[in-house]
Amino acid sequence: MANLTTSHNLNIDDFRHKILSWYDKHQRTLPWRVPSKGEKGSKSKPNPYYVWLSEIMLQQTTVVTVGPYFHKFIEKWPTVHDLASAIQDDVMHEWAGLGYYARARNLHKCAKVVSEELDGVFPQTQKELEELPGIGGYTSAAVRAIAFNKPANVVDGNIERVMARIYAVTQPMPDSKPRLKELAAGLADDREDRPGDYAQALMDLGSSVCTPKSPRCMLCPVREMCLGYAQGIADTLPARKAKKAKPQKHGHVYWIENKKGEIAFERRDEKEMLGGMLGLPTSNWIEKSEKIEFKDGYEDKKVFITHSFTHFDLKLHIQGSSNIKNAQKDLIWMPKSKLSELGLPTLFKKVVKLMN
Ligand code: SF4
Repeated sequence: MANLTTSHNLNIDDFRHKILSWYDKHQRTLPWRVPSKGEKGSKSKPNPYYVWLSEIMLQQTTVVTVGPYFHKFIEKWPTVHDLASAIQDDVMHEWAGLGYYARARNLHKCAKVVSEELDGVFPQTQKELEELPGIGGYTSAAVRAIAFNKPANVVDGNIERVMARIYAVTQPMPDSKPRLKELAAGLADDREDRPGDYAQALMDLGSSVCTPKSPRCMLCPVREMCLGYAQGIADTLPARKAKKAKPQKHGHVYWIENKKGEIAFERRDEKEMLGGMLGLPTSNWIEKSEKIEFKDGYEDKKVFITHSFTHFDLKLHIQGSSNIKNAQKDLIWMPKSKLSELGLPTLFKKVVKLMN
């Protein structure tokens, strides 16, 4: 590691000092964060429940999107015990719209373990944290550093970008991830000098100065240590492989209305996409080349919605029916006037908006 860090004369202590001084002046105000008061430290300590909750919500999701969800959750469930006692359907309902619904199921499972087996106290070691549902390497490092101020190598997308630029790593993502993590470890691992603030400082630098497009290098506290800047290639980093086109899937979504003007919903199987969420009934979602049989008694509404998931794009044609004999038994009927209040995933909100 020493070779890596000295290859362009980066002095680790100087780098960390500059990053932390910048953070003391420019840190973002975030609802789950206790403001840093610099080297003297802050009087109040971060709430591990808030740190864990925010880190789970922030996976694949922006700070701006997470803010209102975080507030809603801590208002409804102020402690990990409250969240553990919640009904899972309520948690899924409040999570609706944040996506990646396995996170919500694991969030609830994790709250139960912390509340019922650990007396509501989050563990502090990386190993114990990673034994909890839904907590992987990144989240355990983030909780350890931010909630408990323990040394940890926290590497999110922002920090990967900063490392790629500081060290001018031209190997494309995602192949370069292990190297970027190793470079970050050389600056972070085992260092007792404000580990929580240091991790958050790099995150903030990445989000507000070392931005994905047009980094604001003139405002950067570590510009003179940045090889990407010196070589004039900062805005091309991290390099990425050309994206493969996403697979296109298609299917039918059923808009079934009974005589009372209620619409049929179902609780999706936990093993499916959007598992555990309330949704309109659908056919299987299959590759574009395969054909889907039309069901008897349904009318093709000649309209469709599209939705993009991380790994595929989806086109669902809407089929309508007012003959509830067509419907399976375990449906949940909702009055049309209440549809806007249901905690539906965005995919189904699009159908409701079109049909209601
Ligand atoms: Fe990022 Fe520019 Fe700072 Fe380098 S100098 S770390 S590219 S903002």
